[in-house]
Amino acid sequence: MTVSQTSERGHLRHLISLADLPRAEIERIIERASTYLTPTGQPPSHDATLRGRTVANLFFEPSTRTRASFELAAKRLSADVLNLDVSMSSRAKGETVLDTIYTLQAMQIDVFVVRDASTGVPARIAEHVAPHVCVLNAGESEVSHPTQGLLDVMTIQRHKGDVGALRVAIVGDIRHSRVARSAAEALTKLGVGELRLVGPTELLPEQTIANARVYTDLADGIADADVVMALRIQKERFAQLGDIPDPQEYYRRFGLSARALTHAKNDAIVMHPGPMNRGVEIDGSIADGPQSVIQEQVTNGLAVRMAVLALVHEHIAAETAQC
Ligand code: ASP
Repeated sequence: MTVSQTSERGHLRHLISLADLPRAEIERIIERASTYLTPTGQPPSHDATLRGRTVANLFFEPSTRTRASFELAAKRLSADVLNLDVSMSSRAKGETVLDTIYTLQAMQIDVFVVRDASTGVPARIAEHVAPHVCVLNAGESEVSHPTQGLLDVMTIQRHKGDVGALRVAIVGDIRHSRVARSAAEALTKLGVGELRLVGPTELLPEQTIANARVYTDLADGIADADVVMALRIQKERFAQLGDIPDPQEYYRRFGLSARALTHAKNDAIVMHPGPMNRGVEIDGSIADGPQSVIQEQVTNGLAVRMAVLALVHEHIAAETAQC
């Protein structure tokens, strides 16, 4: 990636990939995110950091939680928010992504939040925006989902402390998962004790990710794990429909059931990025059970997105103060 995620002044400017983000920056984002959490039942954190600024959500791929989370994060920091309806967008009419961006930039957008099915789109946009404008990757093909990676490590740290002492197992369709890649990048940066990738051979990546150990048996893969993260089978990324695993057979071999989970540590936490397919990658009783931190992942995700928006605002403020 040629685009720099930090400005010359040292501010976070874009968030495209965790692979190129220094460990200190990852820690800074998570630390900031923690300040936005409020006790259950209390009103959510609000402030005026982004008052007068505009955040555009450009989702060229479907999204429920990430889009809602970015929208609420921007609103809770008092930004104006533009949600571009992709089915109505000019891209569907043949306009290039960059022309869409230039058009929106002319409407004084300060932050573009971008999700796209093609690799490289967020970085390409970041290379072309005006100097004060920031680009946040909200999911890029199967390669990167940085805010998800950040919310995952934040959730792990809040339950288990320093990741250096932990064994983390990511289970399922690793091959097509940007969630697995970003989580692995963040965990590796923070010095995870042991990272395991668990799944059927055809769903494991062709090249291993980070220094992860690869397992094709669920019991072996999650044995004594502190953290077990289940992934959805990314049906939309299979070249041939016939290659999609049979759901029942998949559940039998890789589904997180109460029986399967006995192989992990007794106090292991269970994660899932959503959307979940109950009875395929995870049993409903586990998803809703005492070891599940799935709802906390959602809560922490909003806090992470607020933190990222607040931090890039430091860049916007510094750049525009010069004008
Ligand atoms: N929501 C996550 C993503 O956008 C995971 C998934 O779709 O399965 O990658």
